[in-house]
Amino acid sequence: MTGFPLIKPYLEKNSSRIIIGLLCLVTVDLLQLFIPRVVKNAVDTLTVLSPTIAQITWDAAIIVFVAVFIGIFRYIWRHCLIGLSRQVEAGLRNQLFAHVQRLSASDLSRLKTGDIMARATQDVTQVRMAVGMGMVALTDTIILGVSAICFMLYIHKWLTILALIPMPLIALTTRFFGRTMHRRSQEAQAAFSNLTETVRERLAGIRIVQAYQMEEASALRVSNDSKRYVDRQMALVRVTRSFFPLMILLFNISMAVILYFGGRQTIFKTITTGDFVAFISYLGLLAWPMMAIGWLTNLVQRGKASLGRIMDILEITPGIDPMTGGASVTSSTPDIRIHTLGFSYPSAEKNAAWALHNVSGHFAFGRFIGIAGPPGSGKSTFLRLLPRIYDPVSGRIEINGMDIRELRLEELRRLFAFVPQEPFLFSGTLRENILSAMDPDTGEVSQQLRDAAGKAHLLTTIEGFRLKFETVVGERGVMLSGGQKQRVALARALASPAPILLLDDPVSQVDVETGKGIITGIRSFIGRKTIFMASHRLSAIRHADEILVFDQGHIITRGTHEQLMAEDGYYARAARIQSIEGNGEWGEK
Ligand code: ADP
Repeated sequence: MTGFPLIKPYLEKNSSRIIIGLLCLVTVDLLQLFIPRVVKNAVDTLTVLSPTIAQITWDAAIIVFVAVFIGIFRYIWRHCLIGLSRQVEAGLRNQLFAHVQRLSASDLSRLKTGDIMARATQDVTQVRMAVGMGMVALTDTIILGVSAICFMLYIHKWLTILALIPMPLIALTTRFFGRTMHRRSQEAQAAFSNLTETVRERLAGIRIVQAYQMEEASALRVSNDSKRYVDRQMALVRVTRSFFPLMILLFNISMAVILYFGGRQTIFKTITTGDFVAFISYLGLLAWPMMAIGWLTNLVQRGKASLGRIMDILEITPGIDPMTGGASVTSSTPDIRIHTLGFSYPSAEKNAAWALHNVSGHFAFGRFIGIAGPPGSGKSTFLRLLPRIYDPVSGRIEINGMDIRELRLEELRRLFAFVPQEPFLFSGTLRENILSAMDPDTGEVSQQLRDAAGKAHLLTTIEGFRLKFETVVGERGVMLSGGQKQRVALARALASPAPILLLDDPVSQVDVETGKGIITGIRSFIGRKTIFMASHRLSAIRHADEILVFDQGHIITRGTHEQLMAEDGYYARAARIQSIEGNGEWGEK
């Protein structure tokens, strides 16, 4: 079975649990089969011999006794087998998430988030059902089904054959309806996901919705999605409302046939009244195993398909694998050399220009490197290649003479503190967000945390909050302004001990005054950390040791502010415009 090796370890680890569970399940089945025998005795006592109250009391007591044991054993098997299936479910989901976390940005760009979510929820649930209920259905079918038939055969051969005629029909009907029910419930589930996603998106963008008065359109979208969900649910109800009555009808027909023919046998005294009652009880017991056969085949099929879909993700080899070995980073003062770097995004059009082309340079430890260039010129892409968010298509990056692809990824990434253009905050407190790279539960607001917040020009803002560093930032930081979020992201980078700062436009969302404060904070690291800073505000990088000017993926020129001003190219033009606009001259001490 494809994917079986995936669940095998869970079965092996829980083998004693499975054995106990199955033994209890078989015991329950056997005890259930025993009850009709007791009833038969009781009825025969009542009809054939001269009955005494004591005998009937005794039979009733046995039934209570057996029922108590059925309860106990049922509790145990459910605990063992359902517990096992829940372990498989949780284990597979953890495995899946851990693997997805290992995948690189390129690998992930080929997958849809919704698709991964569906596999981590619906598919994992299908596997759980196949493992847990599959085992139960199989055992019941064999033990309960076969034994009930044997007991019935023991009572009367022809009557049994007669009673069994509708049974294959029950199994087939269950199988047929089961498939349709499953398909429709999947569709209902998908419609529900769609509805949740629409509501989530509309709520996340509620400010835009209100500002552009899109409330009516949003409400219509939600109501349409909601209607689609109800329609899908009704389609499911149309199947279930026929299935259960049909099952009951088939059973009642079978019951009527047995009542008639079995009744005749009883009248002709071929079987006793007790046998007749027991026979009907066995027929009742047979109902579940017959449905279980049909259900089982569906369960197993779905479980297999789901396991396959889970395997598809687990089998993706991470393009950049944090788990594989590699050399250690030997120095905490990394020296970076870049050789003819070329890069194109995996999702880019085939003949689109490369995002980076022929980029080279030597960046000694402690230098401040400014990065300028028009939007889309490759600044962010350049920053992403350094910590191996993506790997270059051609050329290479060396740290202390070693190709970064040969270094242990975990150690390489520890060298960098990255502030992307779109800051991302987790729902939690400011402290947790700033210290996310470290242990967030150290208790006291450490000096390090205050320093980082101070350098990011955030301390006065935080001191203004009632809960200070314990302020909860809300989902993705909704409680904060864009500029505040950006400074939290910056403080996170500055709190990190990493020797290289990668700052992608860290002052894009703050006013000029705050920007100046931030740049002063960042510049205090010159000489102690290597700083790469991309910025549209050229005054933020004017004091850089070297400024790289990007255009269409190339470094078109490089040098100090003074050299670039003298060249009178893009940089000088942009700097002049910005200084006329009044953004100039920051970063002065
Ligand atoms: P900058 O930071 O200078 O504004 P970027 O490095 O973000 O520029 O982008 C360089 C080029 O790469 C642009 O043409 C952009 O469209 C493209 N690009 C950026 N990110 C992606 C991505 N995730 N997938 C595909 N193309 C991208």
